[in-house]
Amino acid sequence: MKKIAVFPGSFDPITIGHESIVKRGAKLFDEIIVAVGDNSTKQCMYSMEERYAQLEEVFKDTPNVRIDRYKSLTVEYCRKVNARYILRGLRTAADFEYERTIGVLNMTMESSLEIVFLISLPEYSAVSSTIVREIIKFGGNANPFLPKALHK
Ligand code: ADP
Repeated sequence: MKKIAVFPGSFDPITIGHESIVKRGAKLFDEIIVAVGDNSTKQCMYSMEERYAQLEEVFKDTPNVRIDRYKSLTVEYCRKVNARYILRGLRTAADFEYERTIGVLNMTMESSLEIVFLISLPEYSAVSSTIVREIIKFGGNANPFLPKALHK
C-alpha cells in the first residue's frame, strides 16, 4: 500500500521552514499532500487561491508532492485521500505541547493514523508565518524566510 502523508496547515504564507519539512518528508513517504485547511475562523493575510498558487510554485519540481485544500476535520480529509500519516514540524517545546494535544485528538478519532513529527533544522527553528506576515506588513524584505521560488 502506498505510504501517503498529509501535511496540513494554513501556510499564510509558506516559509522556508515548511518547505524544508515537506522536502525532507518527501524522502520518507511515497506521496506528500500539502493540504491547505480552509478554516473560516482564521483571518488570513493571503487568500486561499494565493496560498494554493504559492505552494504549487514552490513544489512544482518535487514529483511526489501535491497540493490540495480541504474544509473538514483533518482526520476526515485523511480518510478521503487514503492517507495513514499526518506530517508536522516541531520547532520548540511550545510547538510540541500544541502538536501533542492535536495529535492525541486526531489519533483518538482515527486509530489507524500515525502522526509523524520532523524536528526543524536549527536554522529554521525561529521562522514562522507570523513573523513573515509582520515583516511584509511593515514593508520589510521577507526573502530570507521565504522559499527561493517566491523571492521578490
Ligand atoms: P497551522 O495553521 O496548523 O499552525 P502552519 O501553516 O503554521 O499551520 O504550520 C504547519 C506545520 O508546519 C506545523 O506542524 C508547524 O509546526 C510546522 N512549521 C511551521 N514553521 C516551521 C518551521 N520553521 N520549521 C519546522 N516546522 C514548521
